[in-house]
Amino acid sequence: MLKVKPPDGYPPEQGRYMRGNDYSPVAVCVILDTFDFAIPPELNALVMAGVDSGAALSGLLQTENMGLEKMVCNIVANPNIRYVVLCGRESPGHLPGESLVALKENGVTDTKQIIGTGAPTPYLHNIPMELIERFRNQIAGIVNLLCQPGEKDTGLAGLDPKVVEKAVWSCYQEEPVLFMGYELYDIGAYPESAICHKIASKLSQPQQDILQPGKSRLAMGLALLKFLPKTNCRECGRRTCLAFAIELAQGKCRLEECPILEQPEFATDKQALTKLLEQ
Ligand code: SF4
Repeated sequence: MLKVKPPDGYPPEQGRYMRGNDYSPVAVCVILDTFDFAIPPELNALVMAGVDSGAALSGLLQTENMGLEKMVCNIVANPNIRYVVLCGRESPGHLPGESLVALKENGVTDTKQIIGTGAPTPYLHNIPMELIERFRNQIAGIVNLLCQPGEKDTGLAGLDPKVVEKAVWSCYQEEPVLFMGYELYDIGAYPESAICHKIASKLSQPQQDILQPGKSRLAMGLALLKFLPKTNCRECGRRTCLAFAIELAQGKCRLEECPILEQPEFATDKQALTKLLEQ
């Protein structure tokens, strides 16, 4: 069976995930349905179950845009990953779980909007179309165990670490096994080279024109918006990330007013914003 050594630089994107067995055919995606700094223990237990039972990567997905983009980058950088086990409970504001499933099933429009999801901002603007299509082809299936928003019952499949372990185990069997209606086994690595794409690489592009006098406030705000979490969670006191971005461009507020940027998965974006604002 074909297995490949992931390239240097894998996984290219930082985030709240753990790296396990590089040769495993499965990644575990736990939906994070809170913007608090503390990760709920039941979700943490699912991440640990994923990595302990042999997943290549096991981590949290919070947003339907940037979070999903990072996940796509990390998966296409390891052709051994052929399945995603989706678990936890849906995040009602952002629908990242629904967006992941819709991405696999329907793909994106010409403007990189994920087709067939009700998520508020399901845009994958920061990654090339090639990566999106590669992700859709490389992932043979999503084992969808996701629970309803607000669900607390850890006896349900999507919140039960033992079920997640069994799902991961099923994905790396040599012969097909039936798991909750899915036929799973290790089908071997995707037969094309890894693509190691780092979203932060866009930082190396000259950005000098972005904050020059003469540019409209909206243009400046849009440039900054690229690096904001785009969750529209209102924790900064503004109704949208765009409103926050425009005020940032006008010097009317400070980056520190967005608490979401303090989370580890946004460290690179915060760095980029700091750099832009210094220009
Ligand atoms: S800028 Fe405001 S709305 Fe956007 S993620 Fe940060 S706190 Fe939430």
